[in-house]
Amino acid sequence: LVILTATLTMDVTIRRAWEDSLREQTQMHLSREVRLFANRVDNDHARPLAEIVAQEARAADARATMIDSSGKVLADSEADPAHMENHAQRPEVAAALRGDAGNSTRTSKTLGIEFMYAAAPVRGGVVRLAYPLAGVRRTAAVVRRNLLIASVLSLLAAALLAAWIAHSFSKRLRRMAQFAQQVAAGDLSARISEGSSDELASVATALDASARQLEISFRTVEQSRQQLETLLNSMQEAVIAVSADGRVEWANGHMDDLVPRGARRGLPMIESIRDPEMLRCLRETLAGGGVQQSRAALVAAGKVFQVVSAPLPSGGAVAVLQDLTEIERVEKTRRDFIANVSHELRTPLTSIQGYAETLLDGSSDPDTVREFAEIIRKNAVRVSRLTDDLLVLARVESGEQRFQLQPVTCRELVADAFSAFHRIAENAGMHLHSDAPPPSAAGEDLVLADYEAIHQVFANLIQNAVKYSAPGAEINLGYSIPGPDFAEFYVRDSGPGIPSEHLPRIFERFYRVDKARSAGRESGGTGLGLAIAKHIVISHGGAIRVESKMNHGSSLFFTLPLVRPA
Ligand code: ADP
Repeated sequence: LVILTATLTMDVTIRRAWEDSLREQTQMHLSREVRLFANRVDNDHARPLAEIVAQEARAADARATMIDSSGKVLADSEADPAHMENHAQRPEVAAALRGDAGNSTRTSKTLGIEFMYAAAPVRGGVVRLAYPLAGVRRTAAVVRRNLLIASVLSLLAAALLAAWIAHSFSKRLRRMAQFAQQVAAGDLSARISEGSSDELASVATALDASARQLEISFRTVEQSRQQLETLLNSMQEAVIAVSADGRVEWANGHMDDLVPRGARRGLPMIESIRDPEMLRCLRETLAGGGVQQSRAALVAAGKVFQVVSAPLPSGGAVAVLQDLTEIERVEKTRRDFIANVSHELRTPLTSIQGYAETLLDGSSDPDTVREFAEIIRKNAVRVSRLTDDLLVLARVESGEQRFQLQPVTCRELVADAFSAFHRIAENAGMHLHSDAPPPSAAGEDLVLADYEAIHQVFANLIQNAVKYSAPGAEINLGYSIPGPDFAEFYVRDSGPGIPSEHLPRIFERFYRVDKARSAGRESGGTGLGLAIAKHIVISHGGAIRVESKMNHGSSLFFTLPLVRPA
């Protein structure tokens, strides 16, 4: 539109200016010619007026007329003066008669064509030249047409050029808009890649450089964030971060595992944390109370945590939860163990002390002395057994005792235990049977075991069977192969059995079903035999269990891994 308006304005302006200038030039030319004409009329008396008029008309290529001062036409180059009307009222003639140079443009009444007139005063009248404007008009029309063609052509060329430039600019701008959208959507690898070197291209290059810089910074930030997240997720401690308004912002994997269905991001912390102590810590930190600590037992069932909350620079708070459950359990076990050992030692030691003091009195008769000395000896043996068992247990539990694992036949283990204990059983009035299966065609069953250690396990189990059963009881030992991976050994007695409520605990250290009865029968039990057996079996990669019913005897089973032939 702008180009069209400009072209039209220019066309009209140029045409007007050109036409005006053409008319002006024609007029100037005509005025000069009429002055020459007037000069000749005044000075050339040799020729008749009609001839002068005809000559001037030819010279000026115009119609020449001589008019007297009354307005009457004296001579004319194109019409008969006799038939011409009075010209005194013609504007150019009137002006010349007044002594001025007269000019006018109008349609001739005589010829009906548009003329440009110029008149000049002469002696006794006026001379006039009339120039037909048709020629000027024709020239003007040709120029106008050429001008119009030029205008249309330049308009067309300008429009095409403008369209081409606009198209290329809009294409480049669209690429930039697309780039901006990609960056806004998070794709920092987007680039415009402008090839040219104009202002738009330098904007594109600057944007590309910003995106590249942004990508590098973002990658660095992302790497640090991932490192931090990996670090926090690999921590033993649970970590949770809350915003200044108390909403969960972030939690590590450990924290998610603790809370049922995970820590709920974006929701108030009370939705994820139910422990009042932990909530108090976080709230106090959020309220500007700095680092807070407490013990929380209600974060996850059966677990105790040490909670430390600290303020974050963003205004929120972060809480770190250290699991104290195991530490507290170990601590309790240690305390219980010391109490148990002290208790176990106190009874025999008190007894030794008491009897020794009585003996020192020196007032007892030799039989009493012998009896007391025997009691002292028994108690000393008991203390010694206890310390022996404690040492064995300590060695096994600490892993200090290295087992010499080697393939041993199951039959050999059972036979060895039988030969070591059948006489002891007989002495106690019991019968020990070994019921190992007959040798199979496939060969002997081999287990991977430390011979001495497994002998110790058998010893503890058989001694228990002997210790707790009444004379006449039957004790069986043997093994079976219940599956492809393990051999299962057993020691079965027909003794009193173990009440079911004690079954889950008999493998604990110092656990005895009936302490009074054990002590009363002077069985000499320390409560450590099964704990030692359990540790040895577990260290071999096996398991130990008990089956027992009151008055129906007890069966103790333990497994050992079979050696697979290569
Ligand atoms: P202790 O040195 O007292 O025998 P153990 O650890 O060997 O300690 O056994 C733990 C407890 O399990 C024993 O005190 C006893 O009450 C019970 N017990 C173990 N074996 C038998 C068994 N064969 N028959 C009955 N009770 C048993």
